[in-house]
Amino acid sequence: MKKSYAANTFLAIFIIFMITLAAFILVFSRVIRENQNVSRETTLTDVGPSAGRVLFIDAGHGGEDGGAVSLTGQKESELNLKVSQKLQILASFYGLSTKMTRDSQEIAYPEELKNVHSRKVWDTKQRVSLINQEKDAFLISIHQNKYTTSGPSGCQVFYTDEEQSKAVSDQIQAEMRYFAPGNRKNAVKISKDIYLMNNITCPGILVECAFLSNPADSMKIEQDSYQLDLVCVILGGYCSVMGR
Ligand SMILES: [Zn+2]
Repeated sequence: MKKSYAANTFLAIFIIFMITLAAFILVFSRVIRENQNVSRETTLTDVGPSAGRVLFIDAGHGGEDGGAVSLTGQKESELNLKVSQKLQILASFYGLSTKMTRDSQEIAYPEELKNVHSRKVWDTKQRVSLINQEKDAFLISIHQNKYTTSGPSGCQVFYTDEEQSKAVSDQIQAEMRYFAPGNRKNAVKISKDIYLMNNITCPGILVECAFLSNPADSMKIEQDSYQLDLVCVILGGYCSVMGR
């Protein structure tokens, strides 16, 4: 009787152990599979449902191209990445499928490209190619503005020559007036000399979030809380025109 009780206890422990082991193997193999997927597409971050439109987010500049510099010495490329990452997190929280042209400050340039200009050209073309591979995308490119004097301030949205781009731009710019009451800017069609915006095949907008040459703008855009508020306005405008 005592022996049988011990045997039953041993059997119960053995079964629990085997179930735990099976669960562990199942979870562990899934984690490995997911990590393999991440390393296969190091330049892309895929979040949210795979079906439907992809919100492509482009953190302007990066790598050897720092862009403009803020009054406190922060690179535009770093600020663009921080804002873009917040936009991606918020968009995925709302169930949107998103991809990013870069998710790091580092860019792996081909070895044969020796100077900054050729590397910058290569990177821009790579981004255009990535975006154009997507069948149904909408691009939001994040940048910071800079002027020769400290006067100009405020976020401004630029759109490609396309109906949806203009509609989303107008909506974000209109909502920006509630967010920052002093901002009376209008959305504007993007200049022809911005290569990326003029070579994408999907609709797209470019958001100049703040003037790094303006002390108040420069101070605000470096704060995480302000960056988050700003991406709420951008995503709110996008969703109210495009839905999910
Ligand atoms: Zn820029």
